[in-house]
Amino acid sequence: MAQPYMRVENLVKKFGPFSALRGVSLEVYPGEVHALLGDNGAGKSTLIKILAGVHAPTSGQIFVEGKPVVFRSPRDATAAGIGTVYQDLALNQLMSVTRNFFMGREIKGPLGTLKMNEMDKIAHDEMLKIGIDISDPQQAVGTMSGGQRQTLAIARAIYFGAKVLILDEPTSALGQKQQMEVLRTIKRVQSRGDIAIIFITHNEIHSKLIADRFTFLSLGEVIGKGTREELAGDDIRRLMAGGAEIEDLAAMLENV
Ligand code: ADP
Ligand code: MG
Repeated sequence: MAQPYMRVENLVKKFGPFSALRGVSLEVYPGEVHALLGDNGAGKSTLIKILAGVHAPTSGQIFVEGKPVVFRSPRDATAAGIGTVYQDLALNQLMSVTRNFFMGREIKGPLGTLKMNEMDKIAHDEMLKIGIDISDPQQAVGTMSGGQRQTLAIARAIYFGAKVLILDEPTSALGQKQQMEVLRTIKRVQSRGDIAIIFITHNEIHSKLIADRFTFLSLGEVIGKGTREELAGDDIRRLMAGGAEIEDLAAMLENV
């Protein structure tokens, strides 16, 4: 087994007296899709904001390639190879594919002029590598499908050096065909073998379709984890429900 690219140990995050994370540990391996599952309020977004350098943990430690790291800002996390694709994708609908791809990191000539042709080619080629052939990189992002936009945001993160790719609910706002396009894109990234993917989802089926490893969060704690081989289908279903069996939920339904 390869070494984890990134590992977190015992992360605790308090917001005032409230503990959003209560000692979460996780490791992500290159070439693996790691599904992070859990109900609303489980702490998924809080965890990824810590990994992305947005929040500082109250306690606990992050290791990248075995070395302890402290992220003081999102820039620190990006520099350490952590690329995060948030649900809103941080794309400007009115601007072109290429301008979005390079936003703030444009390739310029000696006089400061933008090297548009070079940037168009890179944006096109990087998206093609993970499955989408954009015929015109000058087209506005607003004209692309939701699945294509996800691919743009993913290709951009990889091109700018992501070794851990964090995807926050990438399929949740899409119709089924586009969901499958996005899952195919994620599988293409996985098959490169050098990138660790954290796939946050509410969707049991999507996780089963592509994940190699699963971690289940509930109320700030890891309530289950394992590889695809270690977890039987029923374990996944039960853990998705925060550890509850359908009989427990039926009893709750009677008593709420
Ligand atoms: P998830 O993404 O799994 O739905 P979150 O990480 O968004 O969960 O939230 C976990 C818990 O932490 C929730 O109860 C939420 O209300 C709380 N929380 C998240 N961010 C903050 C914050 N900035 N201040 C106070 N409480 C927060
Ligand atoms: Mg969330």
